[in-house]
Formats: sequence, structure tokens, C-alpha cells
Amino acid sequence: MTTRPSEVAERTSAAEALERCSELDLFSASPHHLERAYLTPEHRAVNERVAVWMERAGLTTRVDAAGNLVGRREGATPGLPALVLGSHLDTVPDAGSYDGMLGVVMAVAVAERLRGTALPFALEVYGFSDEEGTRFGKALLGSQAASGQWDPDWWDLRDKNGTTLHQAFKEFGLDPARVGEAARQPDELVGYLEAHIEQGPQLEAADRSLGYVTTIAGARRFRLTVTGEARHAGGTPYDRRRDALVGASEVIATIERLARSTWAADDASAEGGADRGVIATVGRIEVSPGAVNVIPGRADLSLDLRAATDEERDAMWDRMEAELTALCDARGLRFEARENHRAFAAPCAPWLQQAVVAGIGTTDDRGADAPMGLWSRAGHDAMAMAAVADIGMLFLRCFDGISHHPGEDVRAIDVARGLDAFEAAVLEVARVRAGDRS
Ligand SMILES: [Zn+2]
Repeated sequence: MTTRPSEVAERTSAAEALERCSELDLFSASPHHLERAYLTPEHRAVNERVAVWMERAGLTTRVDAAGNLVGRREGATPGLPALVLGSHLDTVPDAGSYDGMLGVVMAVAVAERLRGTALPFALEVYGFSDEEGTRFGKALLGSQAASGQWDPDWWDLRDKNGTTLHQAFKEFGLDPARVGEAARQPDELVGYLEAHIEQGPQLEAADRSLGYVTTIAGARRFRLTVTGEARHAGGTPYDRRRDALVGASEVIATIERLARSTWAADDASAEGGADRGVIATVGRIEVSPGAVNVIPGRADLSLDLRAATDEERDAMWDRMEAELTALCDARGLRFEARENHRAFAAPCAPWLQQAVVAGIGTTDDRGADAPMGLWSRAGHDAMAMAAVADIGMLFLRCFDGISHHPGEDVRAIDVARGLDAFEAAVLEVARVRAGDRS
């Protein structure tokens, strides 16, 4: 591998990368906040803008059959399998500027930095079209298409105006019948690497710019129902009351207590400590009949459960279900749980974790300390891509762990280190691949 000295001048700096993220804020459904959903005019505009940067970085661009923006440069010989770098260009409503977009901008910058470097694979950059699921309520549509996991049932999904996904495809100029053409095959791919803001406070708490991801958690979600008996609020003495909301309150507190018990007090500082524990969230509760003078007869709750491994998560659920059933029994209440979502954890491939670790090791992030590994509590495009390629992820510190909010912020020094680490990780993959074949 050789780098021409003249390439050095073309390196996109951290400041330029951050400016590009700010520029993408302009492609929004609203002049007052950032919202960029799938198959909208903003989606088209952002693809066109990022394609210009891709071309400037030496990539040949296309929009695939699912609206993903793809850039590619060939390796030492044309037609080699590709190392894919990417993230998403869509946003939640009232989004920050970095969730997804920073990963795409960094991928383009790394392609630009490596323009004069011969690689033993093709290099591709994906700007995924839909990760957040903002418009159709189904996340990862872009990367599910790229990984060959498109489900024909999704065509009937509707946005808030009643437009189906099928209609939206046609209005965007895509042919629904050809969505399968977006699918990549495992033998076309060397691996998938994604840079992303952490969307949590752990790197900041550890005073680190960067971390490598060990695995992406797969959530399980449940609808929990506590059933008692609705009766007159004044006329029913305590020994006759079967109050579903009081039972549900105890259910919520117990869920938190059990999940918290998996987090030892010294975990944040322990080696690999950020890599353990279960996170459980009750985000919604509905009470019926919901009157001030009636004892609640029924409460429906949501539960979202995540852990680094499916085994830890499932063991916690078994424990929760037993305790919650017992506490409701003791109050004369019925406890039922119905699962409505389950995703498998997506472990990062050890060899790509090592490449990211090697990349971080070339920076001055915390001197000689070993890079920090952590599991991703949030879902990412990498989860979908894991179906067709080994995956690895680089996390960047974000301010106060804030994300999915306009207050999302990153420091230029972290982006500078992130760019160096991401570039070095790609070179490490090249070194490993070259070694494999010699
Ligand atoms: Zn994201």
C-alpha cells in the first residue's frame, strides 16, 4: 500500500466533517426543526448532496432499488468483494445533526483519505435511506433491503397521511417490484464498519473520545396487563379492593429493581464493566376505566428489555415474569404478558472488533490505556447488515449522552480522533485480508 504525498492535502478535517453535518440540517421537512423521513423530497435532496461529496472522494455513486445512496471505488482489480462503511441519512422528528449523518460523513472522508491507497478489496459507502422508521413505523427499512431481508408484508404500511409504502416507492421513482435488486450477497462483502455517536454517557464518563462496540443489543418488548376489579372509590374497603393500578405500580418498581440489581455500583470503572447488565423500561401505561372516583380495574403497560446478550436478557425476563406474577397473585390481581417484538443481538465479529481497537490505538485517545469496549443499547444499520456480513462499530463520545434531540453534540477533537481511527481500522482490515491470501 502506498500513499501519494499529494493526497494529504485533500484530507477532510474534523471541522469540515462537522460543517457537512450542519449543512445536511437544511434538508428538512420543517424550517424550524430537523426531520428527514424515508422517500420524501428531503431524502432525495440529501442523497444528491452527499453524492457530490462521494464523487469528490473518488466514489462512483448510485441510488439502489430501496433509495439507499451507494458509493463505490474498485480495489486493486475490478469486481473484488467490498468493505462497506456506512450509516443512515434519515432522522427522527426534531432530530440532532449527528445520529447517522456523522457516520456517513466520516465514511466519505475515510474514502477520500484512502483515495491514493491500493486496497485488496473494493470500498463502498452506504448512506442508508431509512433507519429510524419515522415515516412508516418500521425501522431499518433501508438496511433490511440492502441485506436481503425485505418483507412483502411491509408494502401495506401507511404513513400518517395514509400513503402506503408501495405508493411512496412509486412516487419517489422506485419500482417496488425491483426492491430485491438492493440486496447484497455475502460473497460480495468483506465486512461492514459503522461509526456512530454513542447515544449514551459512558464514553464521556470514562473521559474517552472513542470506543469499540462488542455487540448490538436485541430488544424484547411486551404488553403487560394487570387485571383487578373496577369498583366505587369511596364505598369499597381496602380488604375488598383489587386495584390494578396499585399492582401495576409495584410491577414497575419491581422491574426497575430487578434490572438495577444487574448493575454493580463499581461497574463503570471496572474493566469491561460497561459490557454487563440489563436495561428495562416501562414507557407507557393505560388505565381503565380511568375515572377519579373508580378503582382502576385494568392497567396495560409496555416493557422494553435489553442486555448485551440474548441469554442475559431472556434469563432476566424469566425472573421478572415469575416475580411479577407472584406479586400480582398476592394482591388478587391477574398478570398477563404478551410479547410483541423480539430481535436477536448482533455481535460484532471479533476480527472487526480488533480492527477497530487497532484503529483507536493509533490515536492519542487516553494515551496507553486499552480502548474501551461497550455494547450498544440502541439499534443500528449494522444489525441488519449482520445478516450478510461480519460487522464492526466505532462509537464516538457525545455530549451528556443526548441523542434523538436537537441538543445532540460532538466535539471536534473526538471527530478528529474518530476519523484517524476509522481510517486506520480500514487499513487494518486491508492488512488482515492481504495476510489471509499470502
Ligand atoms: Zn442512528
